[in-house]
Amino acid sequence: MKVTIIGFWGGYPAAGGATSAYLVEEKDFKLLVDAGSGSLSKLQKYINISDLDAVIVSHYHHDHVADIGVLQYAKLVGSYVTGEKDILPIYGHTEDKQGFATLTHHYTKGVAYDPNGTLEIGPLSITFLETDHPVPCYGMRITNGESTLVYTADTTYQEAWIDFAKDADVLITDCNFYADQDGAQAGHMTSKEGAVIAEKANVKQLILSHLPQYGDLNQLVFEAKQYYHGPVQLAKEGFVWKSVEK
Ligand code: ZN
Repeated sequence: MKVTIIGFWGGYPAAGGATSAYLVEEKDFKLLVDAGSGSLSKLQKYINISDLDAVIVSHYHHDHVADIGVLQYAKLVGSYVTGEKDILPIYGHTEDKQGFATLTHHYTKGVAYDPNGTLEIGPLSITFLETDHPVPCYGMRITNGESTLVYTADTTYQEAWIDFAKDADVLITDCNFYADQDGAQAGHMTSKEGAVIAEKANVKQLILSHLPQYGDLNQLVFEAKQYYHGPVQLAKEGFVWKSVEK
């Protein structure tokens, strides 16, 4: 399994950047997890849009779905240019009916996921944890059967993350706030909270994402390292995490 960070800013993209979007690849299968603002432009630095097999969204906040609309236009233009008429499935929850409806267009189809079940997409299995956020949002545990990525999406700290992230190979956390701030009011976590989850869940690597546009971001890593003893790093566009298959 290979994970490429496409976008990592929280709320809005800093100059030249993109908000939440992660490309998960297993063999030839390509899944885009969230499609934040600026992500479609960035994605094309790594793959062709027509090579995407599926998209899944955690929730319908703009910084996670802003580029779904332009992705749909890209599929439409692609159909004229290449004659390709395949339908791209976009998986989402249905607790926001209006949001879910926006996933369907000429060459994309909204597909409901059941947050209580296991979703099989190509070679990947995905389970969900409802996050604590102002709107319904789901974190994901994505595995190829051997290696596991856990993505918190947007959430305040909750104990349930520890079980959910147990022994994951890599954990991507919501780190929208510095350790001395209160992220909970905005529905997000601090560097400290993400690190506490990583430590207690015994994950092998921590990536801090959904980053703030202010302050010295290296401070977030410094803070996280006070609570988690494995490798920590800031999300960066183009950063690739690859599983070591046994
Ligand atoms: Zn959100």
